[in-house]
Amino acid sequence: MKPSTKMIDEQTGRYLPVIYPEELPFWEGAKKRELWLQKCNCCGKSWYPIGPACMHCFAMDFTWTKMSGKGTLHNFVIYHKPWTPWFKDKVPYAVINVELEEGPRLTTNILDCPLDKIEIGMPVKADYQDITDEITLVQFRPA
Ligand SMILES: [Zn+2]
Repeated sequence: MKPSTKMIDEQTGRYLPVIYPEELPFWEGAKKRELWLQKCNCCGKSWYPIGPACMHCFAMDFTWTKMSGKGTLHNFVIYHKPWTPWFKDKVPYAVINVELEEGPRLTTNILDCPLDKIEIGMPVKADYQDITDEITLVQFRPA
């Protein structure tokens, strides 16, 4: 896998994540249906978003570590407006914030859950969605 600055999938019009070199273990893990984040070698905590230093103690000494993929739905919003043409037939849809059991919070989507069944505090687990040959998104579903 290589870093990518491609912003839009020309076939679907969908916005794509920009993949920075320092994020490659996260994206390569997602491709393998695994959730990998940085874990601090000093304080032992993990964090997200991906960055050069621990957001808890600022150490720059970390190890890429496989997370459990288990978490709790911390918060969510439901979008009714399609912000780009790709979303035209996707609304309404939910954007959720998941707190992993290891601590970090990820902003993501929930799969296979009716909007009226989404609840703060519900257990969720990671799932993966291939959106291009290169890119797999980390998503969540009810656990
Ligand atoms: Zn730390």
